[in-house]
Amino acid sequence: MEISFKNKVALVTGGSSGIGRATAIAFAKKGAKVVVVDWIENNETVNLIKELGSEAIFIKCDVSKMSDVKMMVEKAIIEFGRLDYAFNNAGIEGIQANTWDCTEENWDKTINVDLKGIWLCMKYEIPEMIKQGKGVIVNCASVAGLIGFAGLPAYVASKHGVVGLTKTAALECAKLGIRVNAVCPGVIQTPMIDRLTHKEKENIEQFKDLEPVGRFGLPEEIANAVIWMCSDEASYVTGHAMAVDGGFVAK
Ligand code: NAD
Repeated sequence: MEISFKNKVALVTGGSSGIGRATAIAFAKKGAKVVVVDWIENNETVNLIKELGSEAIFIKCDVSKMSDVKMMVEKAIIEFGRLDYAFNNAGIEGIQANTWDCTEENWDKTINVDLKGIWLCMKYEIPEMIKQGKGVIVNCASVAGLIGFAGLPAYVASKHGVVGLTKTAALECAKLGIRVNAVCPGVIQTPMIDRLTHKEKENIEQFKDLEPVGRFGLPEEIANAVIWMCSDEASYVTGHAMAVDGGFVAK
């Protein structure tokens, strides 16, 4: 069955780049009105909103700040009157350092964006969905929410936290018509991976070796999974952390 989000409203955080950008485009292709959220507004963001058409808006918001996130949901409701789908995706990788070398600043910054940010988004999104008696949330975790990664302690801790928070919110919302799931991407070709590999051939090959399929995933391959999880095709799927990882975790 063809998935259609006509007359539906989808919000995507971290929508200016990578996985968020691809998902915003995928929502628009399915007919949704799209709210693109990011803490950076640049030419690419302006072009994206143009590409998405008249039924898309941009909201500048730092998801780690409560007042920003409250304003984000209020603005989305003022503009479009409802909120059907939220892809809470904004994230940072943090600075690479072993657990004992990780600074307090690195720890706090990463946890604030990657974990607190997801909680804040759900804190303000869920009450709107409760009013509607319907809604779907997908949180962006990572394979780093399912297994450990040396050198990324704050990132791994935050992504494990996102998986636990997703399951908890799913249970709280189970009888309210709201489904809450997480997507756990493997290594996906985005600016975040460029920063982690420094675009150096040897590093890129090391990352590729981690993937049983022998290649990086594409942002669109995560977007497709998010679209499916939001659709009625996934009506019995909630509290699930779905790896979309080319077999990474199976290995
Ligand atoms: P990206 O850097 O291309 O995009 C992240 C976006 O989030 C950027 O537009 C950035 O400006 C925005 N952002 C960051 N902090 C923000 C904040 N505080 N408030 C609002 N916006 C903020 O990276 P990506 O690879 O597309 O990552 C998207 C999500 O996918 C992240 O949560 C990341 O942890 C997760 N992820 C990525 C990979 C991968 O291999 N790329 C793997 C697993 C999980």
